[in-house]
Amino acid sequence: MARGRKVKAGAAATETLPLGQPDIKAPEAVAVEPGREHHDLSPSAFPKWQACSHYEPSREPGEEAERGTRLHKAYAMAVARKGGAVDAGLDPEDRAAVEWAVAETLRLFGGAPESVERKLPYYDSEGLLYFGTADAVCGVGIADLKTGQVRDYAAQMAAYALALMDIKWAEPATTHLIFCDEREVVTREWTAEEAISVAMPIIAARKEALAGGGPGPRACEYCGWCGRRDACPPYASQLAPAAVAIASLEAFDFSAVLADPERLGQFLAACKLLRCDYEERAQARAREVIAAGGRVPGWTIQRRKGRESLAPGVLDDIIHRHGWRVLLECGTVSIPKLRKQPGISLEPGQVVEGEPTEALVEEKGGRP
Ligand code: SF4
Repeated sequence: MARGRKVKAGAAATETLPLGQPDIKAPEAVAVEPGREHHDLSPSAFPKWQACSHYEPSREPGEEAERGTRLHKAYAMAVARKGGAVDAGLDPEDRAAVEWAVAETLRLFGGAPESVERKLPYYDSEGLLYFGTADAVCGVGIADLKTGQVRDYAAQMAAYALALMDIKWAEPATTHLIFCDEREVVTREWTAEEAISVAMPIIAARKEALAGGGPGPRACEYCGWCGRRDACPPYASQLAPAAVAIASLEAFDFSAVLADPERLGQFLAACKLLRCDYEERAQARAREVIAAGGRVPGWTIQRRKGRESLAPGVLDDIIHRHGWRVLLECGTVSIPKLRKQPGISLEPGQVVEGEPTEALVEEKGGRP
């Protein structure tokens, strides 16, 4: 690859701009950068801006995000140490997930990365400097840990790849998305051209949205995490099929909804939104108000008995006196968890499948 501008110029590939950043790798010691600060145009938000350029990160981190931060911290420390024991503060399932991710990273890189939590500077078409933080870097390769379900993070990886090719003056770059909960790795090789064609339109659209121009907000799979959703018409409009019942009681005919599969789908989507977002947050707020001595008419907090569990040592004693069988009478064994235990491999015939069940779920790819 020609050194210098081909990568850094982004959309303006013909411009002559300064050469790339010096390579900041730390060959002797693995560099762990303090904090995981994100810039205004951090690539971590690129997948969201690709879907809706008006997306704003929510101020409430949420449980999922907090778990992600804990796992990233444990992953960074273990990868920097080239494996070994993972942070004992994690629960066993999370620890197993991180250990798997660390082993995959070391396997993909053929050894330890040269740096972890590495700041990657990149430029837009006007030559303005931004940065993102990649979890692990080795040569022209990036590994990025992801918690939760497998999603499309290509837009984020494009920006990282672009930055790394610029730093290394080398092409192509390879990105590995390591989905630790699903135990899946998604690897992609990027040329500068490809990375530019994905990343630069996102930056341009985001800047346009910030300046008050471009297309308006567009409801997407990330709305539930968006800090603007409480006052966003496209988001609220998804409630319309259910809201008709409240706003216009005379006009509402539920039998007509049941008779029309199109309306039925929209009605279910609206109910899910009400239940999973608005209701959850309204309940949390009502609890706060009541706990602080206030009143929410029609609602109160009911105290329930806490979950019972065995005191330390009691289980050993029961097994010693009555054997394992007594436990099997009282509970079930989670097959997915058992499969994740080191050294356990279940042969065909050792697992008995029950009757299949059915659940109504939303199709992948979102609502119409
Ligand atoms: S809530 Fe609105 S601004 Fe946020 S992602 Fe959805 S459509 Fe875009």
